[in-house]
Amino acid sequence: MIEQGLSTSILGRARDKGLISFEAVNIRDYSCDEKHHKVDDYTYGGGAGMLMQAQPIYDCYKAVSEKISTDGGKKARLIYVTPQGYTFNQEMARDFASESDLIFLCGHYEGVDERVLEEIVTDYVSIGDYVLTGGELPAMVMIDAIARLVPGVLNNDESAMTESFHNHLLEYPQYSRPEEWMGKKVPPILLSGDHKKVDEWRLEKSIERTRERRPDLYEKWLSENPPKPEKKKRRKRKTAAAEESEQSGIQVNPEDNT
Ligand code: SAM
Repeated sequence: MIEQGLSTSILGRARDKGLISFEAVNIRDYSCDEKHHKVDDYTYGGGAGMLMQAQPIYDCYKAVSEKISTDGGKKARLIYVTPQGYTFNQEMARDFASESDLIFLCGHYEGVDERVLEEIVTDYVSIGDYVLTGGELPAMVMIDAIARLVPGVLNNDESAMTESFHNHLLEYPQYSRPEEWMGKKVPPILLSGDHKKVDEWRLEKSIERTRERRPDLYEKWLSENPPKPEKKKRRKRKTAAAEESEQSGIQVNPEDNT
């Protein structure tokens, strides 16, 4: 599932070019049960469902971390994908993208024996407040978001700088050919060729869209981009100073606010 899912399209091409690499490792290969390769068992204390056991996961982790041996002996971070983790976001994707190696642990059944989690996990990460049957899809979601931030993976690295969540804003609306479709016209500013005006329009639309759809992000953006201290006041002060000088006959430098 993971190999197939990640080997297509943009990530597949990035892998072929050697920009990224990934390998899915089957925890069953580390089971002590030679006959059935069992990796789960009943939970102590009762309750529905089975739990993944500590030993196969730990042995698998040790084999993987020895194989990838990161720079300077630094251990690779191990991300346990779990609904009990911090919710994954673009900032986390950027943080993970700066690492040379990452290991994802995908749970199944009722989850994983707590003791092995305590031993090996560095990051508990969720993809949202809902429960899936296994960790493969969440891991693939995260790998996709992280890998596209690796330089060279996207044809145009700039697009990661303007798209949603950069600087807390959602991306502005976009249009392609034809200029008119079902009676709807492309906003004329986008056809003007005036790049400065286009940038201003896009920023305005990004802010508007974020305020409407994600007030939580808008508040964050606002706290980092407070409205500029009023030009009006400065102008008022200047005007008052100019008036004063007119009355007194002294010339005031318009740039001088003091
Ligand atoms: N019993 C667990 C609980 O209540 O927290 C849920 C286990 S879930 C059925 C099985 C596995 O799917 C988890 O161990 C985890 O790896 C993965 N998983 C399910 N939902 C997820 C989510 N929202 N984000 C990340 N991983 C998830």
